[in-house]
Amino acid sequence: MRKVELLAPAGDLARLKVAVRYGANAVYLGGKKFSLRSRASNFDIEDIAEGVQFAHAHGAHVHVTVNMLPHEEDLEGLEAYLKDLERVGVDAIIVASFHIMKLAKQVAPNLEVHVSTQHSSTNSGVIDFYEKQGMNRVVLARECTLDDVKATMQHAKLPVEVFIHGGMCISYSGRCTMSNSMTLRDANRGGCAQSCRWKYKLYDKDVPIYKEDHLFSMSSKDLNAMRFLPELIDAGVASFKIEGRMKSPYYLATVVRSYRKLIDTYQETGQLTDADFDWVVRELAKAENRLTGPGFYAGLPKMEDHLYGVNGAGVSQEFIAYVLDYDQETQMAKLEVRNNFKIGDEAEAFGPSLDNTNFKVDTLYDEDGEIVDVARNPMQVLYTKVDIKLQKHDMIRKVMTKREKVY
Ligand code: SF4
Repeated sequence: MRKVELLAPAGDLARLKVAVRYGANAVYLGGKKFSLRSRASNFDIEDIAEGVQFAHAHGAHVHVTVNMLPHEEDLEGLEAYLKDLERVGVDAIIVASFHIMKLAKQVAPNLEVHVSTQHSSTNSGVIDFYEKQGMNRVVLARECTLDDVKATMQHAKLPVEVFIHGGMCISYSGRCTMSNSMTLRDANRGGCAQSCRWKYKLYDKDVPIYKEDHLFSMSSKDLNAMRFLPELIDAGVASFKIEGRMKSPYYLATVVRSYRKLIDTYQETGQLTDADFDWVVRELAKAENRLTGPGFYAGLPKMEDHLYGVNGAGVSQEFIAYVLDYDQETQMAKLEVRNNFKIGDEAEAFGPSLDNTNFKVDTLYDEDGEIVDVARNPMQVLYTKVDIKLQKHDMIRKVMTKREKVY
């Protein structure tokens, strides 16, 4: 069966490495310029070069978002930037502006050019157009239904990428000016203030129709397209994209590993069972605190697919430590603390090649060998004895009690 690509977000180098280690075939990142997340970017060109080296060494690709809609004043440095991306070995750029598409083909011909979802591509005719312009891939609009995708794929002349998980825009992607209007931050030039997710006091003319404890918000549930994966794979989609460059390494590891498992299982066995989906639902609940839905895949979103008030369901587990090393002789694990935990806590270890394995934290020592009752300090290095064969880069999460759940 044709291998499909799992494409994960990378907010920084650490997350790029997590995504690749936990099963992404490719990562996408934004540089400090010309990207819709440029304000939050941690990638200068040296970081991108290091990320490319790491990804390529692990058989993965790197895509860089150059997806702003530049105004005349934004163009300075663009040509040099595209040449730099080509020079450091970036595999593809994700682009929304016709000017950047054309320029990239002229000055950096070794870069694949992928047409961004910001371009609202919703049919095969558009893909035909981009194919004639020399583009290499089209990211379909997130507003496509499953039927749209299937129909498009029947005539698509370029590889097609679709979103399968993560945040959605309540507006048509790439066409929202809510942030521009409310904060003077241009959503299409990297400045979205996520105004749709703010809490609003709602009035019908002068009559308040809100409750103080239930203010109005207008965002949609995050996308979770896992149940559509088999049909999307069968339709011929080339790449499945996870949204969320701002998400934590733990969230990323959990989501990437979950979709890796679903894709591999489907490609190996030709089916996904309810047990496979149930496992992923439980898995995602350990890291994801926003409610999710099918996006547009099941047709136009309905009232229950929007978030008018409550945003979260609460995570059922909390990331407590990253495994730095494990000594098989002594069974001592060297951990980097991420959140509070203590002796006696129930924990679960997981990793790129480690199935979920529960254990109880029986011992904790600091670097001087002194006993520690409670791990309080993030990034502190501690040791614990555990008879699970851990590996560097595995993660440990705490099984949360109801009282501890974070909303
Ligand atoms: S304000 Fe909301 S809908 Fe508009 S671009 Fe930002 S996230 Fe998307």
